[in-house]
Amino acid sequence: MEPVYLDHAATTAVLPEVVDAMLPYLTQRAGNPSSVYAWGREARRALDDARDQIAAILGARPQELLFTSGGTEADNAAIKGVAFAARQRGAGNHIITTQIEHHAVLHTCEWLDQFGFETTYLPVDRHGRVSPSDVEAAITDQTVLISVMYANNEVGTIQPIAEIGRIARARKIAFHTDAVQAGGALDLNVGRLNVDLLSLSAHKFYGPKGVGLLYVRPGARWQPQQQGGAQERNRRGGTENTAGIAGMAAALKLAYANLEANNIHARALRDRLINGVLSGIPQSELTGHPTERLPNSASFLFKHVEGESILLSLDMKEIFASSGSACTSGALEPSHVITALGFAPEEARGSLRLTTGMENTRDQIDRVVDVLTSAIASLRAMSPAFAVV
Ligand code: PLP
Repeated sequence: MEPVYLDHAATTAVLPEVVDAMLPYLTQRAGNPSSVYAWGREARRALDDARDQIAAILGARPQELLFTSGGTEADNAAIKGVAFAARQRGAGNHIITTQIEHHAVLHTCEWLDQFGFETTYLPVDRHGRVSPSDVEAAITDQTVLISVMYANNEVGTIQPIAEIGRIARARKIAFHTDAVQAGGALDLNVGRLNVDLLSLSAHKFYGPKGVGLLYVRPGARWQPQQQGGAQERNRRGGTENTAGIAGMAAALKLAYANLEANNIHARALRDRLINGVLSGIPQSELTGHPTERLPNSASFLFKHVEGESILLSLDMKEIFASSGSACTSGALEPSHVITALGFAPEEARGSLRLTTGMENTRDQIDRVVDVLTSAIASLRAMSPAFAVV
């Protein structure tokens, strides 16, 4: 039986076209983009082309992009860069974010506490949506940054980014969105989204791991967080990952050229999965927003079973999924996202995330529903908690 990969929110395999775009910069054109001779100039040209192509998709100018080592670095750079720029000019020390951000945002905000910054972590509703009026109400005269993710990595809920951006702009507060999960699935036009800073990561849209970017709107009060050489116009020192960046551009271009078809495919499989699970498995519940969710994201809670046990049962049948975010699986603490939706810790332990992708088929989904249905039935049969209900 071939393995079924349903963890595209964790990462994706690099597409062959993307490998083709990368290979020359790993092999015969492996020059350093800062070198002045022909190999260096070729690498520089690859970076320039990649920057142009990505900027066009974001509706930005090429010089507004800053290449990073991935989503985590982009989030760190965005948040620390705005916070310390504010500190330098003697502005406020208050940040607003949400309780369901990725740890790349949450832990960065927590880390800033030691420098006297204070963060408000806004609650979300049962579907994982933050209310723009809560954002507005949380603003104080000390607020310098609002950071709200575009789409959640565990439950797929999409936030009203453009609306929050309007509020931030009216109050002249920098607005960052972690668009890592939205990349390759949702509109990334920074003008329409009203964002000042936006983070992306290539490995979520069939590009390579370890490469991402930060968009910084001109005039945004932000300062570089990585000192070194003059790369990235002095905003991020370090030799550029030419092959990775060329791969990211190729992957993003492919994703947006085929956006409609890819999303129709992902959504059809996601809905088949959701319907199969909810109709076939008793005491199961969809988490996240019923409609405002990523086209590929299905996330569930199953009563009286541990998500980790479900994962092991699926793994034995070569079905790969996640019990929350990939970064926290392995730790048995309930997910901060599911508990923020208002579920009790014991309910949150029964969470499972299945995220569809390009290579999945209807047959695979049907097989997954069958395996999941019997796995949960046998796990519950062994569970004392289930026996007493
Ligand atoms: N932000 C979100 C919403 C994510 O889902 C992830 C990765 O899972 C990240 C940030 C971190 O990105 P990277 O793995 O490129 O560091």
